[in-house]
Amino acid sequence: MASIALKSDDSIPPRRGIIFILSAPSGAGKTTIYRAALKAIAGLEFSISLTTRARRKNEAEGIDYSFVSEEEFKRRQSSGELAEWARVFESSYGTPRAPLDAAIASGRDILLDIDIQGARQIRRSYPGDSVSIFVLAPTFEELAERLRGRATEDESKIKHRLQKAREEAQAYPEYDYLIVNAEIPKSVARLETIVNAERLKVSRLRGEFAPWKS
Ligand code: 5GP
Repeated sequence: MASIALKSDDSIPPRRGIIFILSAPSGAGKTTIYRAALKAIAGLEFSISLTTRARRKNEAEGIDYSFVSEEEFKRRQSSGELAEWARVFESSYGTPRAPLDAAIASGRDILLDIDIQGARQIRRSYPGDSVSIFVLAPTFEELAERLRGRATEDESKIKHRLQKAREEAQAYPEYDYLIVNAEIPKSVARLETIVNAERLKVSRLRGEFAPWKS
């Protein structure tokens, strides 16, 4: 193993980057945690997913998503450009592979906001370099209240989402960490604890820890 020298003022040894996966049933507060985490936690980058769903009013191309046609999505998928992909609520979503590989190789960390099916694929493809975190609302009743409070959808759509959320919540044992989201700042602080601990894992070091090489 090649040893890598540290700068004298640097207490952080060189390491591989980490792919942090955040998944949750809808309404759990994942998107809010995701956005707050990118601001609050130093050195976390986001990944721009491909999607075939229509752009919402408050979304920008190339910032929130790359919005593509079904044909374009299929083309990118079959050429192997996607690290994972899934159908969610009748649209396709996928994570480009190249930015993940580049981040791991250069020691940068990426936070992915992806569904359960996508999380399974990333865990399989990057077993040592991914960390998965599941976010749940404290109770089913609270989730129902949150979804109705959002008032962005009609009752039949909400019922459908609630049923799906109950099913999806059963997936939490597959994940490395569980965050029960009662208060956003507390949840972001917990996420930061996970990120910082994972960054210090010996298994992520690149090369030997040079200062203590005998
Ligand atoms: P929305 O359409 O509301 O932005 O996202 C719907 C769902 O798709 C969310 O659960 C989100 O996490 C998931 N999603 C967003 N991007 C991706 C992706 O690249 N891959 C997968 N598998 N799911 C994604």
